[in-house]
Amino acid sequence: MQKVYTKVTDQLDFFQGNDPTKLAAEYGTPLYVYNERILRQRCRDLKGLVTYPHFVVDYSAKANSNLAFLEIVKEEGLEVDAMSPGEIHMELLAGFAPKEIFYICNNVSEEEMRFAIEKGVITSVDSLSQLEQYGRLNPGGEVAVRFNPGVGAGHHEKVVTAGKKTKFAVDAEKVDDVKAILKKYNLKLIGINQHIGSLFMDGKAFTQSVASLLEIAKQFDDLQFIDMGGGFGIPYHKEDGEAPLDLEDLGKHLDETLKAFAKETGREITFRIEPGRYISAECSVILSQVHAVKENHGKKFVGCDVGFNVLQRPIMYDSYHGVEIFRASEEKSEKEETVSIVGNICESGDILAKDRTLPEIKEGDTLCVLDAGAYGHAMSSNYNCRLRPAEVLIRENGEVVLIRERDDFADLTRHQISLKK
Ligand SMILES: *Cc1c(COP(=O)(O)O)cnc(C)c1O
Repeated sequence: MQKVYTKVTDQLDFFQGNDPTKLAAEYGTPLYVYNERILRQRCRDLKGLVTYPHFVVDYSAKANSNLAFLEIVKEEGLEVDAMSPGEIHMELLAGFAPKEIFYICNNVSEEEMRFAIEKGVITSVDSLSQLEQYGRLNPGGEVAVRFNPGVGAGHHEKVVTAGKKTKFAVDAEKVDDVKAILKKYNLKLIGINQHIGSLFMDGKAFTQSVASLLEIAKQFDDLQFIDMGGGFGIPYHKEDGEAPLDLEDLGKHLDETLKAFAKETGREITFRIEPGRYISAECSVILSQVHAVKENHGKKFVGCDVGFNVLQRPIMYDSYHGVEIFRASEEKSEKEETVSIVGNICESGDILAKDRTLPEIKEGDTLCVLDAGAYGHAMSSNYNCRLRPAEVLIRENGEVVLIRERDDFADLTRHQISLKK
């Protein structure tokens, strides 16, 4: 095997001695590959974020809800949040106790809310009308409310989830209305939470939002926890030397804020964060096979099998993913070229990587798409009746195990009802 362009996976020792061209051949492509050591490390990074003693990390499972993945997160001592009954179901299966699950719902039906209540999962509602609904379903119960701290952040308009232009959360000015509904249904507000958006690389907006959230917290006496949200970013431009989020600096500021709050209020409240991407993105790559290289009107296209059914982030958010190149043969790349790497879906927006300058890519090469573990497989689909990829895990000892089978044709017709029967 030849490493044509493999800087980041080398630095991380991602494959731990496994040959990616052989993994691609053995399991077929596209293939999601996870590294357990890196996943565990990311869990530990965040568990150690602050020294404040009452601190819980909830992994935000929508980023990646693979069962084996959740089992590892559980082993690392994290708790989880859930965005749907399906996620609650997966998390219970992975071994999380109901008390370790925090259901952060948005515009849900009575049935969905009742599901969480019956399972004993703490629920956060994000509007006055949903708080009313909760009160009707579970009078006298314990509940959390998601507030909008008025500050948003994120890598794309679609993922900024606080501030003035978002559907999420209850405005800070509505505290009195919240109190009135709590009283009406004899509810106990045990937690408040926020989530300002996804992928901040600078902790300032986050610390600022926490300060606003703490002001809201002071207006409620029964709080057991304050959940500061997720959004911790990762550097997608690693090969260009992009720096990671400065966790040490963020942790220091946060620690001061939390300790000051405890001192000022005399309350030893539990603080939580709910990162998804930070935990799951960097421990995964997608292996892909190059099936065609061609030139159209002077532009070179590399055609591979990672369409947007496999990885939706580039078409959905204009996201950047680094791409590395492995080759089974010893044939050399003579030059660098600027190419667009595209998938096999019948839409011209199906571009994985636009205008990248890389060593010449040849048919048969194995491409390795970096940082694919967050919002990767979780957002994959059967569009174009393509089969969702398999997932394998490189264990800490280097052994590779299958943690999800590739879809087969039967998955395409499951639940469909033919008129011919
Ligand atoms: C998506 C989401 C998260 C996780 O966001 P990341 O950017 O992946 O850390 C956390 N909390 C809520 C409420 C979310 O919707």
